[in-house]
Amino acid sequence: MQFIDLKKQYSILKEQIDSGIEKVLNHGMYIMGPEISELEKKLADYTGRKHCVAVSSGTDALLMPLLAWGIGPGDAVFTTPFTFIATAEVISLVHATPVFVDIDEKTYNIDPVKLEEKIKYVVENTELKPKLIIPVDLFGLPADYKEILKIAEKYKLLVLEDAAQGFGGEIQGIKSGKFGDAAATSFFPAKPLGCYGDGGAIFTDDDELYQKLVSIRVHGFGSDRYTHVRIGINGRIDSIQAAVLLAKLSIFDEEIEKRQLVAQMYTERLNGKLVAPFTPDGYKSAWAQYSLLARFEEHRAEIQQKLKDAGIPTAIYYPIPLHLQEAFAQLGGKTGDFPVSEEICRRIFSIPFHPYLEENDIDYICNLI
Ligand SMILES: *Cc1c(COP(=O)(O)O)cnc(C)c1O
Repeated sequence: MQFIDLKKQYSILKEQIDSGIEKVLNHGMYIMGPEISELEKKLADYTGRKHCVAVSSGTDALLMPLLAWGIGPGDAVFTTPFTFIATAEVISLVHATPVFVDIDEKTYNIDPVKLEEKIKYVVENTELKPKLIIPVDLFGLPADYKEILKIAEKYKLLVLEDAAQGFGGEIQGIKSGKFGDAAATSFFPAKPLGCYGDGGAIFTDDDELYQKLVSIRVHGFGSDRYTHVRIGINGRIDSIQAAVLLAKLSIFDEEIEKRQLVAQMYTERLNGKLVAPFTPDGYKSAWAQYSLLARFEEHRAEIQQKLKDAGIPTAIYYPIPLHLQEAFAQLGGKTGDFPVSEEICRRIFSIPFHPYLEENDIDYICNLI
């Protein structure tokens, strides 16, 4: 069994994907071909955003708004230590300071109460200037934007939604990608909407930010390709990847619904044996991962071994919280700083999940557990 079976999806979409790729091979506009603007239009419509900028990866989709806003040395950027490194890496890349905030013990997303406490702490006790919050829609579940956006308004902070895992999720009908001043998503193959390489997208309703992002995507170009008005990057997505995404987008909503059913089947069959994912009322998860909590670390190892022996792959997202990563050692984080994140890191593991997982496989996995 595979952890995420992408071949099943390809067999369903083969004709569409192959012909989309062939079209690119024939027109020859491998970079910034017509597929890019078509994809951007469709993604913007999908999320209900005014603008979408398709880019080279989820990491660049996070980095580029920081560049556009001029986030830099002396700025505090609030995020969670229980996420993929890219979320906080981009903060350090622009020489701003990541300020971690612990997570909610049920949703695993940034805890709004602790967020406000941390903002106050930074204002009163440090020289740093609070500028931005990067909430993460972990495992596909949107963060608590109702509370986060209130806090952002109160303290005049920008919000960048890390929707790398959340794309396809929603809160009361509002799609992930629509929250905050801008949102970033990833099209890494294993994400809910994935391409066949690297890719990502940025969403915003802000015209000025949009113009800057378009420029930053191609080395900060100005009135023409060889006039440069700001420092940018090579942040383009390939036409071939856009063609793959256009095909996949055509069945994405059906897949999101299939994901709800798979998650529901897992939760029913596990019947409280382990702590199953929590979805608050009015929220829909994109189910980037289906993650369970074992009772303690050795219990997790035991379950993972049992599944492995039966040919079932599992994964741990994430084994080490970011404040304890060597890459962030200069921030001085230590064990005990973020007890909820640390505890979840010791107990969490994810089981196979994709929209085409069959009921007998789900039964098999749940019986083993
Ligand atoms: C995957 C991921 C990213 C980075 O996306 P890439 O496309 O791999 O660069 C950022 N944040 C989170 C939460 C992710 O899961």
